[in-house]
Amino acid sequence: MQLLDGKKLSNKIELQVSDEVKLLKEKCGCTPGLAVVLVGHDPASAAYVNMKKKACERVGIYSITHDMPENISQDAIEKIITNMNNDSTIDGILIQLPLPSQIDERRLLDLVSPKKDVDGFHPFNIGRLTTGLDGFVPCTPLGVMQLLAEYDIDVKGKNCVVVGASNIVGKPMSSLLLNANATVEICHIFTDNLKKHTLAADIILVGVGVINLIKEDMVKDDAIVIDIGINRNDEGKLVGDVDFENVKQKCSYITPVPGGVGPMTIAMLLSNTLKAAQVNSKERA
Ligand code: NAD
Repeated sequence: MQLLDGKKLSNKIELQVSDEVKLLKEKCGCTPGLAVVLVGHDPASAAYVNMKKKACERVGIYSITHDMPENISQDAIEKIITNMNNDSTIDGILIQLPLPSQIDERRLLDLVSPKKDVDGFHPFNIGRLTTGLDGFVPCTPLGVMQLLAEYDIDVKGKNCVVVGASNIVGKPMSSLLLNANATVEICHIFTDNLKKHTLAADIILVGVGVINLIKEDMVKDDAIVIDIGINRNDEGKLVGDVDFENVKQKCSYITPVPGGVGPMTIAMLLSNTLKAAQVNSKERA
């Protein structure tokens, strides 16, 4: 069994992004800029935003956080997003999810300019992804694909079972795998007999949010297991959706939590922000 080390690869990507950011500053005097919208005081969201901010600092990306109260109105956030769409110092806009219930999440995501949509959640970019065209791809599944590539794992013709079908994880994960010529099955809460599906998988990719959902008897020998889940167990420890200690014995490759997909997500945000800045700088030239 080999660990797929997302921490190590994300460090390597950060160095590459950092070099590219320096080059861009030298060439056109532009500093890539990321704006983050954070609503309310959810501790997990605040922690993620903080990690993203620190990562930006490490690679020389300018970042600004719009910290908004829990009871903010739809109109007020929409005004901020419109301002950021028109702000030339901002190349990427990220709306930290989840949002409070009074906010129409879809309307906000649709308002972000597709050119600044570094999370890849705008229908324009989702459409480009499903048709295999270049665009912004959601950071978590993009990070998974890069991690697989780093270890020379070719998904072409492989049986891939994606567990979880959300717009930010499972669906874009499935599109990327399909674009790379994998055979893809998507399972979700209503899937009957999940084990039957996972047992047939060469690669299981799970992003659900249920501790120990994937157990040893659900994984075939030498399968590759990608754990996208992030949960806190009763002792407050970060764990994924896979019963890691038992499942790892059967796998050829597996991602740890923490240190697997999580750091890759942040690295992809940096890389998407850089990509947006590179395109914007060319358009301004
Ligand atoms: P979500 O709640 O939007 O979607 C969960 C999906 O899992 C749904 O499609 C649902 O049908 C499915 N599901 C729920 N219970 C199931 C079960 N028992 N069996 C099969 N399918 C089931 O969640 P999300 O935003 O997609 O996040 C999923 C997990 O991924 C969470 O743990 C989240 O913290 C994690 N996540 C990690 C990263 C990262 O960087 N590693 C990024 C985003 C989300």
